[in-house]
Amino acid sequence: MPSVQTRKDAQRCGRLEFCYLCGESIAAQQSNSEHVVAKKTFAVADREPALVLPAHVDCNAEKAAHDERLAQLVQASRGEYPSRRAQKVDIQPLQCENLPHPITGVRSVQDEVVWMWVQGFHAALYGEYLPRGTRLKAVSLPFTRAAHVGQRLWEIEPSNNPWLLREIVLRNRFTRSTDSVLLNNGRVRYECVWIQLEDGRWGCVFFLVVAGLELLVNPEVGGTGFTAGFYKPVAGRPRCASKHSPLVFSIMPSLTA
Ligand SMILES: [Zn+2]
Repeated sequence: MPSVQTRKDAQRCGRLEFCYLCGESIAAQQSNSEHVVAKKTFAVADREPALVLPAHVDCNAEKAAHDERLAQLVQASRGEYPSRRAQKVDIQPLQCENLPHPITGVRSVQDEVVWMWVQGFHAALYGEYLPRGTRLKAVSLPFTRAAHVGQRLWEIEPSNNPWLLREIVLRNRFTRSTDSVLLNNGRVRYECVWIQLEDGRWGCVFFLVVAGLELLVNPEVGGTGFTAGFYKPVAGRPRCASKHSPLVFSIMPSLTA
């Protein structure tokens, strides 16, 4: 069960010889060591130990714009706000048909940034590149997503069942069958397990909590407060990745935090 939990673990991961975002050699183009989850996402006291991996400057530049938006959202949950000029988050009041007052909505929060984090966690745990274009994948964000069409707000159903995926990970946590990244004073918690599907191929189920994102859930419109997802890479299960436990048992609610 590979894990990355200490400063020493994180330093070891930083010695990868490929860009975790595109998979090409880092010697080929200008590269830096880049934070997988942007440093600004965390309060100063929680910025270490962090997952910092090699990435090309150009590859990271694309990710940085997504990261900045999410980091500003999390900062807002701590009561820290950027200047108006530096603000990247587009916040709007939205009117829901079933609510008497407008709610706060944020435009353009993309799943894509979570995939780039998952690429980083995969590279750190297994020393392998997870192609960004992996076709069989699904992710749900911690908050409810909706499309504003005319005067109506339409909820977008998650492309997976986040509660089921989370339960799969939690069951395997108790049998020590999960791989994990636990960094930034516990403010980043990623756990995953590999399951074999009916076609014999392997897929990875993951559960991710990034500090602060859960605080952005509006209880009036719901949201899970966590990120969960699934991917099925063409390369299959990395050799050292943990296989799921076939044991089935009930989980008490008090143990699922
Ligand atoms: Zn690259």
